[in-house]
Parts: sequence; C-alpha cells; structure tokens
Amino acid sequence: MRKPVIAGNWKMYKTVSESVETALALKPLVANANHCEVVIAPVFTALKTVADRLEGSNIKVAGQNCSTEIEEGAQTGEVLAAMLKDAGASYVIVGHSERRQYYFETDVVVRKKTQASIVAGLTAIVCVGESLAQRDQGSAESVVSEQIEGGLSGLTASDLDRIIVAYEPVWAIGTGRTATPEQAQEMHAFIRRVFAQRHSDAAAENLRILYGGSVKPDNIVGLMAQPDIDGALVGGASLKADSFAQIVNYNR
Ligand code: PEP
Repeated sequence: MRKPVIAGNWKMYKTVSESVETALALKPLVANANHCEVVIAPVFTALKTVADRLEGSNIKVAGQNCSTEIEEGAQTGEVLAAMLKDAGASYVIVGHSERRQYYFETDVVVRKKTQASIVAGLTAIVCVGESLAQRDQGSAESVVSEQIEGGLSGLTASDLDRIIVAYEPVWAIGTGRTATPEQAQEMHAFIRRVFAQRHSDAAAENLRILYGGSVKPDNIVGLMAQPDIDGALVGGASLKADSFAQIVNYNR
C-alpha cells in the first residue's frame, strides 16, 4: 500500500515568524491525519525554526531546492541537501517548474540534485510536467518521459524508495486551472508504466506519484479517488493553515 503524501510548497512567501505562525496553526488541525504524510516546505531561512517547533508532531519539513553538490565548498548562495537534513528537513522538492523556467534547471541538474538528496538521506520530491503548448501539440507524455529519463536515470532500486514524483502540468500551476482527475490519472498511470519499463513492476507499484496544480479543498477528493494519484503537492492553497488542513483531511 502506498501511503499518500500531502505536501505544501510555500514558495517565496512568509517571514520566519509568519512561517512559525502558520505551522503552529496547522499542527492541531492535522494531528489526527494518520492516513497520509503531511509535509510543508518553508523558505530556507525559516526551515530550521519551523522544524524545531514541529518536532514530535506528524508534520515533516521539506526544502524547496538544494545544491547539485554533495560536499561542502566554495559555492556562494548554495545549500547542500545534507545541510537541509541537518536543519531538520526530511524531504526536498527538486526540479519544480519554476526552477526549470526561471533558473534554467535542466534534467541534468535535476538528476544531480536528486542524487545529492538521496546521498544526504532526504526523500526527493521530483517534479515533472508539460507546458500548455506541449499538451496542445500532443507531446505531454513524451515530455514527461524525457524528464524522467533525464532527471532520474542512474537510480538504483534502493534509491527509488527515496523518490516521490510530482506530476505538475505547468499550465495548472498557480492558474486556478486544474487538470481533471481523469487527465491527471492518465498521466500518473503513464508515469507508473515508464517506471515499470525502466525498473520493475514492484518499483512502479511502490512509487508515490503526487499531483500538483491548483489543488484546492474542493477538488482534492476527486483527485484522490484516482487509483494512481498518491497525494498532492499544493502551492497557493497551502499558505493558509485551514485550507491546507482541509486538503490534508480530504478523507473526512
Ligand atoms: C506548486 O507550486 O507546486 C503548485 C502546484 O502551485 P499551485 O497549487 O498554487 O498551483
């Protein structure tokens, strides 16, 4: 059985005190959510404080990005995956479309970051997804399979336990336009088939695939009803404790 993951990506929002305030407001609202892993990804500057304040709770903390490097060194502005772990993170988001688009992250960069995260003992939430133009051209599946080939090649069977894939169609991120549950299911099933071909049926069966793109309290139930949707990566609706808690508690 794949345990669902509901992860909130706070992007470049919230000061340290605002992050702590939201995290502490969320804590009691999701305290009984044993059906899924609950994750929040604050900005780097708030990560340690939030992780410390959530210690002992069922909410885990993620970094939103990490360096491609494995060893510390002269890399101004970069943060090692191992440093995120040291600060209290258990997960890290890798290859978000905003990083691919605005910071020109290629599949090779995504692969290095994924590998660095695994070496550090973090679980990498690796984002893939096509643009609207690519979907309209009918190349959504080939784009996603290329991102998987390029970003996740060279992983061993045991590495796969440390990987979560987030399917985030770029046209649905922050736009209010969600993929329908059927569109998302179709791509999730495709991603699982790609993993079965590349690795094994067992690896594909165990892989958790999250959907991301304008997930809200009113569409999470339909998405989670799909057999290959194992959770959600939530941006805008994770910024407020009550709306994120409603998404986490989709099963009530
Ligand atoms: C995201 O940033 O990963 C995301 C899915 O954002 P939103 O939920 O706001 O579309």
